[in-house]
Amino acid sequence: MIPSPVEYMCYNGGDISLPPGKYAYIMAGNGIFKYAETRYMKALVPVAWTRIAGLANLAPRVELHYGRLPGWLLSTLYSDAMANPNHEAVYQIAPYGDKMHVYRPSQVNGPSTSCYTSDLEPASVIAEVHSHGTMRAFFSQTDTRDEQGCRFYGVVGCLNSIPEIAIRVGVYGDFWRIPAAVLFTDTGPFLNRRR
Ligand SMILES: [Zn+2]
Repeated sequence: MIPSPVEYMCYNGGDISLPPGKYAYIMAGNGIFKYAETRYMKALVPVAWTRIAGLANLAPRVELHYGRLPGWLLSTLYSDAMANPNHEAVYQIAPYGDKMHVYRPSQVNGPSTSCYTSDLEPASVIAEVHSHGTMRAFFSQTDTRDEQGCRFYGVVGCLNSIPEIAIRVGVYGDFWRIPAAVLFTDTGPFLNRRR
């Protein structure tokens, strides 16, 4: 039998730790959270806000093991997306040697669709960012259906006016929106979209 990767915990205070390869639902005094750790980060995201008497409270958070990503990655991504701003496009950020790079996986793009195949090992991808071209940067239901890994997800849009970016951290189907500056040292040409 394959052991389940998911644990169920009650939070009574203190640090959260899990064996490698596991993730956890954690019941806390102020809600249900989901916790996971990858080679790049620890993430605790809210699943549902509620009151549960007798347990300690938690706050959503993300910790980057190697600090923030350089902002020039977003400038590179912007230049490429601007080459064809009327189509969607998908990018992945992963290391090459000791530096992070923007990869453009093999993809077929339309005005509002994008299909891609990546040669990267999934666990090596710290962030996946797609472009909505000239449309607003928001996470669609299709994005949520597709973004089921444990990594950062981003969307950029409004490329023909004031470019904007939205970032969230995903933990296997649950998400927490964060300002782009939590992940990047600067957001390059993009304005952070708050909602
Ligand atoms: Zn999208």
